[in-house]
Amino acid sequence: MRRPRDKRSWDEYELVSNLRSKERFIQDMESFGDVRVALIYPNSYEVGSASLSTHVLLKKFNEVGSVRAERFFYSRGFSKYYSFDSLTPLDEFRIWSFSVHYELDLLNVFDILNRFSIPLKKEERNSFHPVVVVGGAMTYFSNAVLAEVGDVVHKGDLSEEFLDCLSSVDHRMSREEIVATLTTKRVEPAFSNSLGESVFISSNSVFGDRYLIEIGRGCYRKCKFCVAGHRFGRPRFRGLKDTTELMDSVSPITKRFGLVAATVTDYPNIEEVAEHCIEKGYELSVSSLRLDSLSNTLLKALRLSKQSSFTIAPEGGSQRMRDAFAKGISERDILKALELGRENGFRRVKM
Ligand code: SF4
Repeated sequence: MRRPRDKRSWDEYELVSNLRSKERFIQDMESFGDVRVALIYPNSYEVGSASLSTHVLLKKFNEVGSVRAERFFYSRGFSKYYSFDSLTPLDEFRIWSFSVHYELDLLNVFDILNRFSIPLKKEERNSFHPVVVVGGAMTYFSNAVLAEVGDVVHKGDLSEEFLDCLSSVDHRMSREEIVATLTTKRVEPAFSNSLGESVFISSNSVFGDRYLIEIGRGCYRKCKFCVAGHRFGRPRFRGLKDTTELMDSVSPITKRFGLVAATVTDYPNIEEVAEHCIEKGYELSVSSLRLDSLSNTLLKALRLSKQSSFTIAPEGGSQRMRDAFAKGISERDILKALELGRENGFRRVKM
């Protein structure tokens, strides 16, 4: 591994090293495979470390015995890009796997490729360039640009099929052989029933040092504008026992939990989980609340978790707008939600 040789590189090295030193790993992620995969989240460390995709990919890729996967995050100030796991520079990795979740993150993918003089179009790359793999939520709904950039595009959830292909990659393979090995015949996005959870916690993540648990994926409501309702597959949920046991097993390390789902309030066992948190004294936060499904128990659990506000999403300022994109929320629902929040001691709400 090359060490930094100039001040700018040392600064970058120290910044990454500092962020890394503040992480606490819940599961051992060490791997000694010789197929080196860079897992690149094309946004800041704060955002990327709060994305469960980073956690799931790190865990699943490293479970493939021959693979050694390490994390990278985007910063406009980075030039060498040191791994957040071993501080190895990015250009020592053979496979660069980008997890793209938002259209604007694509600009950061381009910036990283440009910095290393890697052509943005896959057909202009040669055998000296890394294999660029693209996956992430954007593959559910917008593939035209990704198909031009990625030597391999994996659509949808991380699939067993892709992991099988990855296990067949040998570090002595040529670039062309790796691309052929990783290219599956799948046309439609993969939908996995396996839900994610944190493998590390970091106080520098946008969610702070909360342990994140994905309790559901997909949404049955199908608001007209929403990708989650239309492209993430049928809704699937984590079992109640699985959720509460996971919380209890992690509680010696942290008692702060974040529940992640397209709509947390559609989780069939949200009341029981909120009660479990109240009973055990766990702090709870949630990614999103459907305002017509709020309950006293959930709001009480949030209030006891020192949350000073809660977030609801009316989405449109007028009933005509909300009806036009089938939000299914009335003005009465909004006022009722605000009233319930007030009764539970909240004085602030985010919309
Ligand atoms: S309820 Fe929320 S997650 Fe579900 S379809 Fe509507 S906007 Fe999307």
